[in-house]
Amino acid sequence: MRFASLGSGSAGNATMIEVERTRLLLDCGFSVREMLARLARLELTPEQLSGILVTHEHDDHARGAFKLAAKYRIPVWLSYGTYKMCERYLPSDISDLQIQLIDSHTDFTVDAICVSPFPVPHDAREPTQFTFSDGRAKLGILTDVGSTTAHIERVLSGCDALMLECNHDLAMLAKGPYAKPLKDRVGGRLGHLDNQSAATLLSQLDNTKLKHIVAAHLSEKNNTPILAQTALSAVLGCAPDWVAIAEQTLGLHWRSL
Ligand SMILES: [Zn+2]
Ligand SMILES: [Zn+2]
Repeated sequence: MRFASLGSGSAGNATMIEVERTRLLLDCGFSVREMLARLARLELTPEQLSGILVTHEHDDHARGAFKLAAKYRIPVWLSYGTYKMCERYLPSDISDLQIQLIDSHTDFTVDAICVSPFPVPHDAREPTQFTFSDGRAKLGILTDVGSTTAHIERVLSGCDALMLECNHDLAMLAKGPYAKPLKDRVGGRLGHLDNQSAATLLSQLDNTKLKHIVAAHLSEKNNTPILAQTALSAVLGCAPDWVAIAEQTLGLHWRSL
């Protein structure tokens, strides 16, 4: 298994998970044209995608998903709540769309990849995050989560690779440029995870198999890479630069498990 980020942050998110010839795109928060350019950086074309998963309806995750899916006839997996809230993104002719509704507690398989969804606290209708397995290694991905739960801790324990939201630094958010209602939303229980909360979550997981840790969905206004890296590396006892960053523009190149 290997994975890569095509971009991560409030301007757009997309992650690629690959096992042999099975390739799943997790979220597509970029326009189709932008996605083609970002896929090309990974030496991929849309014809090589086995499926698209949409975590929730926010623009930075769903923006280009349905146009890309319809144009290249790629099936889309998502919860019913997310699907209902994504109606504004659906192309006028949806006859080419293959929608697969998922239950956020029921695993499913797409060719060589076993996908395990789990529900998260976030201000969307039915937001879902995922772990991925090839039967040997497990990749856990968690972004867009305002607070953690015992269930999240259980499903992310024992991963070989983790991509964790480090959205903001609490002090930078408090002193930063956002208006008070937006600060309250981002920092609230249904908002986004701050560096320290991500570190606390990480400290509660079984990390004995962990080979890659990636900080994701960093705010460009309320965080810096080094703050996120410092928070997560303190838990793992590693050098800060061992913590990778999924960047907004450049994403993160392939990491193998
Ligand atoms: Zn987001
Ligand atoms: Zn969101």
